[in-house]
Amino acid sequence: MTNVDTRPLNADEATATYDVMIVGAGFAGMYLLHKLRGLGFTARVFDAAGGVGGTWYWNRYPGARCDVMSIDYSFSFDPELEQEWQWSEKYATQPEILRYANHVADRYDLWPDMQFETRIEAAHWNEGLGRWLVTTSAGDLVSTGHVVMAVGTLSAPKLPEIPGIESYQGATYQTQKWPHEGVDFTGKRVAVIGTGSSAIQSIPLIAAQATHTTVFQRTPNYSMPAGNRPLDPAEVATLKANYRDYRQRAKESFFGVPIEGEPKLCFEATEEERQATYQAGWDSGNLVGLIGGFADILFNKEANDTAAEFIRQQIRSIVDDPETAEALCPKDYPVGTKRPCLDTNYYQTFNKPNVRLVNLRQTPITEITPKGIKVGDEEIEVDAIVYATGFDAMTGSFTRVDIQGVGGVKLAEEWTNGPRTYLGVAMTGFPNFWAVTGPQSPSVLSNMMVSIEQHVDWITDCLVHLRDKGYTTIEAEASAQEAWVEHSNELGNQTLYPLANSWYMGANVPGKPRVFLPYIGGCGPYRERCNEVAAKGYEGFKLA
Ligand code: FAD
Ligand code: NAP
Repeated sequence: MTNVDTRPLNADEATATYDVMIVGAGFAGMYLLHKLRGLGFTARVFDAAGGVGGTWYWNRYPGARCDVMSIDYSFSFDPELEQEWQWSEKYATQPEILRYANHVADRYDLWPDMQFETRIEAAHWNEGLGRWLVTTSAGDLVSTGHVVMAVGTLSAPKLPEIPGIESYQGATYQTQKWPHEGVDFTGKRVAVIGTGSSAIQSIPLIAAQATHTTVFQRTPNYSMPAGNRPLDPAEVATLKANYRDYRQRAKESFFGVPIEGEPKLCFEATEEERQATYQAGWDSGNLVGLIGGFADILFNKEANDTAAEFIRQQIRSIVDDPETAEALCPKDYPVGTKRPCLDTNYYQTFNKPNVRLVNLRQTPITEITPKGIKVGDEEIEVDAIVYATGFDAMTGSFTRVDIQGVGGVKLAEEWTNGPRTYLGVAMTGFPNFWAVTGPQSPSVLSNMMVSIEQHVDWITDCLVHLRDKGYTTIEAEASAQEAWVEHSNELGNQTLYPLANSWYMGANVPGKPRVFLPYIGGCGPYRERCNEVAAKGYEGFKLA
């Protein structure tokens, strides 16, 4: 632990004062603002983006859509909102989700209390004041009672560490920073680096336009067809008639999406039943349908192997060239332990004569040159490079800000060996400082809308409790935080997740500690635990 008191921030120079400062105008920040204002708190949202929507403001690459069904991936806090909004497709596109975010901002008149194109650079706890002093890229110095980091778990994009990356003379794009006017690849030779969800969604559409597309794959992913389709109005009407009950079941569920029935253990089923279950999961076009087919897929390697082999067989049956098919088959990590993908014609794209897969396991990229990408002795010349190379997930959006708590302790240094939180919402040494869907909460292992709403409701209830009881500060006790971190790690270690080099494990960022970042206890049980903590007068927190 470091104890450097280097704070340069002077409270007398504060240009604005709020009860709560909200960092991020994605779904989390928007709901927070709506909720806090309704409860009589003064609050303001700051976002580096030029508008609302967070993820859906930034990620405008071709094919970007949700992979949790639109009817689930939407706010539930206002029955009128969920009744009036009409999703057009099973999996809404990025433009439609962004329209929804803007609709929410209009409907609840959020705009006057949001400030865009403003990055939060530093947040320092001032012990004398018992408040946070926060600086922004716009030159504001804000004094705030609480800071809520609604900064997103997948919002700190990262480029690959490849020599020569700066030397490339052609056009470059990053999926997370896609140009708002779109990109026309007609007549171009395009390289895509990466085969995660962003790449798998965009490659079929890029390849439909480009003269030639080369996909640079380091690790193949497990992907299944999304089965996307327009939503049938009759089906939606039936759901909306029971939306309240449906939402309640989502809240109590493991992944934040209701599922029917109790799955059995994999080897309780006969081989025939197993194959039928996997086929039904594959045909459902639903991620939970596949990895949720049996209760032990994420816990038992032998069980997992049967699901993984089923998917490999599908890939082999779709891809014509056997060598390409084998290269596209994931073999060295269990299905589900890297985020699986939903696609539209991803594997089919490799049957096109003008699409090439480069298997970086056989021929790694040695450098990027002014004209293209060098693998082994071959230089592949391209007109454009698309980096679909992911994020410094879950912690990057925190550690990229200079956050200093009690005694000038820096959050980034506290997390050198991995993040440490109590319930994923609070951190010892950082009073009145909150995270929405932070590390060690269900977060990315769930339908994020369910987790966002749960955190926002819990944090705002807590702020009301503090106000009602006359408390001004709240901080996680060290022992409660230790116990939570240990519990979260213990659960993670009972699963197969540690077997993969995934962003869940921090493995995609050189030097990042290898720890399982989210909480795998399930949304429903996690919610119960949080409610229990609140019911016991915020057990594990120091209130002063
Ligand atoms: P975000 O939407 O990430 O918003 C955070 C905001 O904080 C950003 O606008 C960012 O600019 C801002 N910010 C960060 N740091 C600072 C700073 N220092 N100063 C100022 N502003 C800052 N989840 C699902 O459940 N289902 C899906 O189908 C799904 N699809 C996804 C698709 C993509 C392409 C990606 C990248 C993620 C997807 N996710 C999905 C996860 C998604 O991030 C969440 O569902 C949700 O949108 C997160 O909302 P949020 O408000 O918490 O964070
Ligand atoms: P990602 O899953 O982390 O994928 C990044 C890809 O880039 C991986 O294939 C990675 O290979 C590759 N890569 C990174 N560095 C490389 C290098 N130096 N050389 C070669 N390849 C390199 O990132 P993402 O696709 O942006 O997705 C991140 C998460 O966002 C998803 O997991 C999901 O949760 C969410 N998301 C959801 C959707 C959706 O369908 N709704 C769409 C996009 C994103 P390795 O695997 O070998 O590291």
